[in-house]
Amino acid sequence: MEAYTPTDQTRIHRRPERGHYDRALVHSIIDEALVCHVGFVADGKPRVIPTTIVRIDEAVYLHGSPQNRLLTTLAEGAPACIEITHVDAIVAGRSGFGCSVDYRSVVIYGKGEVVAGDEKARVLDAVIESFLPGHRVRPYKPSEIGATLILRFPLDEVSAKVRDIGVKEVDGDYDLDLWAGVIPLSIVPGKVRDCPRLKPGVTTPDYAREYGGPARSVTRPASAETKLTDCH
Ligand SMILES: Cc1cc2nc3c(=O)[nH]c(=O)nc-3n(C[C@H](O)[C@H](O)[C@H](O)COP(=O)(O)OP(=O)(O)OC[C@H]3O[C@@H](n4cnc5c(N)ncnc54)[C@H](O)[C@@H]3O)c2cc1C
Repeated sequence: MEAYTPTDQTRIHRRPERGHYDRALVHSIIDEALVCHVGFVADGKPRVIPTTIVRIDEAVYLHGSPQNRLLTTLAEGAPACIEITHVDAIVAGRSGFGCSVDYRSVVIYGKGEVVAGDEKARVLDAVIESFLPGHRVRPYKPSEIGATLILRFPLDEVSAKVRDIGVKEVDGDYDLDLWAGVIPLSIVPGKVRDCPRLKPGVTTPDYAREYGGPARSVTRPASAETKLTDCH
């Protein structure tokens, strides 16, 4: 199936035309993320914790120390809500209500499954490949693998929301003598700094010098034909 099935939990109420369940769109938003935020309840209190995320096929993975409260709570079966947002542009309107942001976001609900065996190294490799494609590292030590708790969340209950319409005003405001427009935003890498203890002869690889960010293969839903620069 090309789309996730909306559930009572993932059906978008406000601005439903901005809601999407298309798999390719959801995947592209997740793959571009350097960080996600995970909501869960621990000791009766709500918490939202930022952490890295990687997607492999139809699951996302969180990893960290076996002492990490987020992971230990989720490993015990607590439900999680994982969220990713990319702010694509500042939208300057002619009224306060017309000011907004263009964005792409994903919300994932699910319970974590503990990853074991050879799959652990495969997930850790995927984490590195997701934020620094092409980077080579030495093989993991068994102690490092043992000291890492990894949880898999199958992508079942998922929604995406996209605002990419730029300026949208109420009729009449377009005639005001005020500037309106869109300021696109993106992550811009700075100049690479080599590790001061780099072994002589080791050079800076192109994938670091020409870093373009995580996977940026943005797939727009068929219904979202407007562009960031469009002014409505
Ligand atoms: C950068 C950014 C800024 C935003 N600013 C505002 C703001 O200032 N005011 C405002 O009212 N809204 C804002 N939103 C939208 C906000 O995220 C919700 O969509 C909004 O609160 C409406 O939710 P709801 O009542 O329809 O859905 P809810 O009843 O809260 O949620 C129902 C289900 O819809 C899905 N869902 C809801 N929102 C999203 C989302 N953003 N992405 C993916 N799935 C979602 C989830 O599966 C959720 O369980 C912003 C979103 C982003 C990404």
